[in-house]
Amino acid sequence: MNASLQRGLDAFRRCLDAPTASFFSSCVHCGLCAEACLFYTETGDPNYAPINRLAPLQRLWFQEYTLLGRFLSALGLTKPVTHDELAQWSPLVYDSCTLCGRCALVCPMGIDLVYMIRREREGLAVSGHAPAGLVGATTRNVNKGSAMGVTLDTLRAQIHHQEALTGIPVPMDVQDADYLVLLSSMEIVQFPEYIGALSKIFQRAKVKWTLSSQAFEATNSGIQIGIPDIARQIVMRTVTVAEKLGVKVVICPECGHGFRALRWEGEDLIGRRYGFRVQHILEVLDELHQEGRLPLRTQDQDARPLTYHDPCQIARRGGVVEQPRNLLRKISSDYREMAETGTMNWCCGGGGGVSALEQTVPLRRQVFRRKKAQIESLGVHTLVTACANCRMVMEEDLEVHGMDVEVIGLTEMVADHLEE
Ligand code: SF4
Ligand code: SF4
Repeated sequence: MNASLQRGLDAFRRCLDAPTASFFSSCVHCGLCAEACLFYTETGDPNYAPINRLAPLQRLWFQEYTLLGRFLSALGLTKPVTHDELAQWSPLVYDSCTLCGRCALVCPMGIDLVYMIRREREGLAVSGHAPAGLVGATTRNVNKGSAMGVTLDTLRAQIHHQEALTGIPVPMDVQDADYLVLLSSMEIVQFPEYIGALSKIFQRAKVKWTLSSQAFEATNSGIQIGIPDIARQIVMRTVTVAEKLGVKVVICPECGHGFRALRWEGEDLIGRRYGFRVQHILEVLDELHQEGRLPLRTQDQDARPLTYHDPCQIARRGGVVEQPRNLLRKISSDYREMAETGTMNWCCGGGGGVSALEQTVPLRRQVFRRKKAQIESLGVHTLVTACANCRMVMEEDLEVHGMDVEVIGLTEMVADHLEE
């Protein structure tokens, strides 16, 4: 047997833990997870049914961990998992799953399909079947501290632009600040106005904050590619810096997976508690506002009809649902809620590393039809969100679909509505 296949199958075997085995045993094949998955509903292709994506893992479980499977295998009546099969399966596990978690939420048997898909990604990555785009992003994330290869010089240049625009200095490597702020690659490169917005907000709230030259990005490609050791290494970089600087809180940016990795998985990954708290930027903004430290102008609210797109990892899988709405209802006089929203939102179609894969573009265009319909049904031309990846993906798709809709980051919107 080929050595990389052997490593991949061994990784699959390691993944076949108690939750995985009980999940496989309890699936009643009801199909509800398929109806919850964007890639199935928008294509009608049964290959995209979430439970179907687990077929190689499930077959290994059946053959090696069930009595019937072992018996049939001993008689040579089962088909072993092969290299070619893993290669064919890779697009179903990486290219067309955003790890959005909608399928897991609706499963009547409580099967955590995202957990299983991530375990399967681990096996595929170890056997050399992770897509090249994600391997590249992960390598840059580990070696350069940035999934997109953004350098400290690039960040400094963007900071200087923002300082010139706002007239407010951006702090770097400040010891004992209250908050250490992380950014996403896309914010630095495509939406640097996020940095200027933070400066205005924190100056208004009289908050002592800092960026770090050693750990400025939140992106965690280890989670996306499915390799826990890499995810741990990336988390540890932030932990080391935050604890050295002595900050009280690390703020995750408008980035889905970065928040998920650091807030909900990081302590398990590194095997100990952090010496600081982790909050999403929207939690911090809402908290500062509730405490009266961040007054917002309510006398001249934004009158444009607008709606909010919940990023999956922040809302459904992150628990930050009410905070953006608290802020938006203060800022906007015509805030409109999508029909399926909050924890039941529909994904933008580009999370989970999917947007890093060029080959996914046609499929992403196709599945964006769901978000398009949601936006059109509200008659809005302004879409607010809180994840730079969602923002970039939706901006592209709105353009391609010929829709006249502006996408805005909520943090920037808050900065534009600060009371003098
Ligand atoms: S919703 Fe749950 S029980 Fe139903 S097919 Fe999907 S995984 Fe199986
Ligand atoms: S996590 Fe989201 S994209 Fe992936 S299979 Fe489930 S519903 Fe589909």
